[in-house]
Amino acid sequence: MRLRKKPWADAEIEASPHIVVPNPTELKGKWHQFFKNNNPIHIELGTGKGQFITGMAQAHPHINYIGMELQTSVIAMALKKAKEVKAPNLCLLNQNALQLPDFFEPEELERIYVNFSDPWPKTRHAKRRLTHQVFLDIYLELLGEGNEIHMKTDNEGLFEFSLNSFSDFGCRLKNITLNLHESDMEGNIMTEYEEKFSSQGMKIYRCEAVLPA
Ligand code: SAM
Repeated sequence: MRLRKKPWADAEIEASPHIVVPNPTELKGKWHQFFKNNNPIHIELGTGKGQFITGMAQAHPHINYIGMELQTSVIAMALKKAKEVKAPNLCLLNQNALQLPDFFEPEELERIYVNFSDPWPKTRHAKRRLTHQVFLDIYLELLGEGNEIHMKTDNEGLFEFSLNSFSDFGCRLKNITLNLHESDMEGNIMTEYEEKFSSQGMKIYRCEAVLPA
């Protein structure tokens, strides 16, 4: 997702430090204090314009949600949605997922969502895929054994790669579907990409990967 630079984005983000946390390194190990509860913390990587994470925060008030997005102009759109829903269990980070260990202590998170992440189709870019072993190593440290990564994508090649990557890593795979919207999954909250692709008749792939001991 590429959006034209938004001149108002920086000012909006700076004016909302309670939603777009400016210095997440300072909260490493203190996220439950930030949320003022001991509820589980779930994070979405590449949260885009924020439809999924704001929807999840409203649907599950007893879970804390963090949306992480690299691009400032994109997270500014997520911030608009977060302001509308006013959910105390939601915050956003304008950061790169590669830096996750700078922001979270081991086992501080309980679930990671990777929705419609960039497929990086060229083999030489494989390490940039958010389901590459480079990232799975980080996820295992931050989630701990037995916790889950939930993935959705429209991209068959990325899904195939990810199933192999999860499996090679020793994950147990469950709830795999090659057509999410015709599956019996309840409570699915659609992302912006999911709405767009499914309205064009494309199938949505989904799986849950349980991290190994
Ligand atoms: N999840 C949203 C959806 O389904 O509508 C957005 C999907 S979009 C294809 C992927 C998003 O991931 C982009 O907004 C991109 O900036 C973000 N992204 C890519 N690599 C990232 C990284 N390493 N850390 C954080 N965000 C990343």
